[in-house]
Amino acid sequence: MITVRQALEIALQQTKRLSIETTALLESAGRVLAEDVVSDVDMPPFARSTMDGYALRSEDIRQAPTRLQVAGVIPAGTYPNFSLQPMQAAKIMTGAPLPAGADAVQMVEKTRPLQDGAAVEILESVSSGHNVSPLGSEARRGDVVLPAGAFISPGVNGLLAAVGKNSVAVYRAPSVGILATGDELVDIAVKPGLGQIRNSNSFTLYAQVKQAGGMPQLIGVAKDTTANLRQKIAEGLQFDLFLATGGVSMGDLDLVEEVFAEFGLEVFFEKIAMKPGKPVVMARSARGGLVFGLPGNPVSATTVFEVLVRPVMRKMMGFPIYQNQMVLATLTEPFANRSGRENYVPSVTWYEEKRFLVRPLKSKGSGDVVTYAKSNSYLICPIDRTDLSSNENVVVMLRPDFFYG
Ligand code: AMP
Ligand code: MG
Repeated sequence: MITVRQALEIALQQTKRLSIETTALLESAGRVLAEDVVSDVDMPPFARSTMDGYALRSEDIRQAPTRLQVAGVIPAGTYPNFSLQPMQAAKIMTGAPLPAGADAVQMVEKTRPLQDGAAVEILESVSSGHNVSPLGSEARRGDVVLPAGAFISPGVNGLLAAVGKNSVAVYRAPSVGILATGDELVDIAVKPGLGQIRNSNSFTLYAQVKQAGGMPQLIGVAKDTTANLRQKIAEGLQFDLFLATGGVSMGDLDLVEEVFAEFGLEVFFEKIAMKPGKPVVMARSARGGLVFGLPGNPVSATTVFEVLVRPVMRKMMGFPIYQNQMVLATLTEPFANRSGRENYVPSVTWYEEKRFLVRPLKSKGSGDVVTYAKSNSYLICPIDRTDLSSNENVVVMLRPDFFYG
């Protein structure tokens, strides 16, 4: 059986970046840039005051307090048509251009107006450049301000706006088909009868795909019959990525792999030394779409998504780093791992007194959605460790829920 690390390596090797499309700036958040972005302006476009105050010649106020004559007023959005002569200042607002001759700004709090504003007393001296952003100090016209491959964070959206990019080239977000399988599954609008349960996996995965930046679509529920599976799996193979849950373990009616074989899928692995989630099929269709047969158990399906599918989606979307981010945390109580597999334990992680702390949740197993819903992270117990002790430093995989919850 391959390790989680080997599975992830194989999965990423088999994943290609999707094609490039153009998107409106407002729709681009969360995607990855597929072009170098060049500034069409100097930033700032003029020597800009960073304060409300008085633009002045620093050499005039080496001694303070000093009285200067006020040569004019410069609100933001105007451009001064005068220059400062010796012993002159100009009243200036934040974001306004300095007049020629000025090399610094003293903030209004350190000045005192005189003669109804015709003069001003500067109470403290300032050095040249004080409270001024020089022309082009942030970027010059023609500079690459964002390289292809940059993640479009809110800050990047702002920069794209500042350089006038109303539309940008980005990597496509994958379309992701989601199928649940199992004779026992009923629609969530229905009260389950004897032996039945509601289909929750489809909803967990839909949310995860959306959170990861993909475009999820529910394909519904397939019965445990080859005929029904054939029909639904054929639908799933139309997507960039197809996620099916259930029907991949050893039961008599676990037929998903059999139907995958009928469709001629190329299978890369079908078992991983991971808890939860040992049975996991990864494959590719003749069309090139990637396929995951995830375990039916809800905690297993969602965990395998985080560990394997999210990085795959990130690679598809052009992210330069697709691996999940880990932190070291101090374990608050002992933990036993008798699985002989790498154990992803639903946990609560928080930051307190200069360190992360992690508390593994007492779960009733990989069907326990009640406990899982309280977690924001996974404590990762290595495959070769049977016991972790309290206060030990352990590796924790933070889920996005850590940041949003
Ligand atoms: P399976 O992998 O098909 O053997 O299913 C393993 C366990 O997960 C069984 O208890 C199923 O009832 C449960 N299960 C399978 N699919 C779902 C689903 N879509 N929603 C909730 N539980 C499921
Ligand atoms: Mg099943």
